[in-house]
Amino acid sequence: MDMLLFDNHNHSQFSFDGKRTSVEKSAVSAKEKGLGGICFTDHCDFHVPPMKAEFEDMKPEVFDVKAQQEEIGRVSASVNGIMILKGIEVGLYRECREQIAGHLSEHSFDQVIASVHYIDDTDPFYGGYYEGKTWKEAYGHYLETIYEEMTWLGNFDIMGHFDYVARYAPYPQTSIMYADFADIFDEMFKYLSHNGKALEINTKTYQDYHGRTPVLDRNILLRFRELGGEAISLGSDSHDPSRPGDKFAAYAEFIKSLGFRYTVHFERRKAVFTAI
Ligand SMILES: [Zn+2]
Repeated sequence: MDMLLFDNHNHSQFSFDGKRTSVEKSAVSAKEKGLGGICFTDHCDFHVPPMKAEFEDMKPEVFDVKAQQEEIGRVSASVNGIMILKGIEVGLYRECREQIAGHLSEHSFDQVIASVHYIDDTDPFYGGYYEGKTWKEAYGHYLETIYEEMTWLGNFDIMGHFDYVARYAPYPQTSIMYADFADIFDEMFKYLSHNGKALEINTKTYQDYHGRTPVLDRNILLRFRELGGEAISLGSDSHDPSRPGDKFAAYAEFIKSLGFRYTVHFERRKAVFTAI
């Protein structure tokens, strides 16, 4: 593939869980893999559920924006041939709405990913969230929560990993399919397309995890396109230097086969399209 793809979702040493890599290591790796750009979207979650805070004694999971951006500036000046962008992955949480909006207005970024990591005061990674819920309730409530919080916030560019909740789920139903959640997907996609925001393909979700491998339902992408969506963002969600650009060639081919003509990244919050 000769296009220069951007990896819009990566974590560095500034994320609480990014100690396996650094801006420099991941940027050099991304360049060696032939990517056109890499964006560091470190974690910013103002509320961490007690079940996790107990284990890891880290709360809140907020990074030092100034230090991260200075380091990106330093690495950009020394590593040529790849664009390195300044981003944030903000964790949406109802009780933190004002704090999140305030934080985003106080700082400048190239791109902002809006994600849900914690929900109902649980961390799906550690369980709890799924207890007492059918797969349909667990996935549906997660999707509705993303929708409610992202439409409240408005100030973001990319809807992050809508299928995060499937990664760690205990159900035989491993994947989130359009047909099971058509109404909420339609609302999400109308909002994203009408507001110039991107749908993320997060390739970390499509990895084996304890014998389960969720898949990306083509009908989700087809419906997004049908409702006017054009902006697809590719993100590896890397936390180590081996993963930037992971499976991008395959997913770029996949979206092309479904009629998409571009991938997108954001520079100073403006969409930039790359033909595929
Ligand atoms: Zn995330």
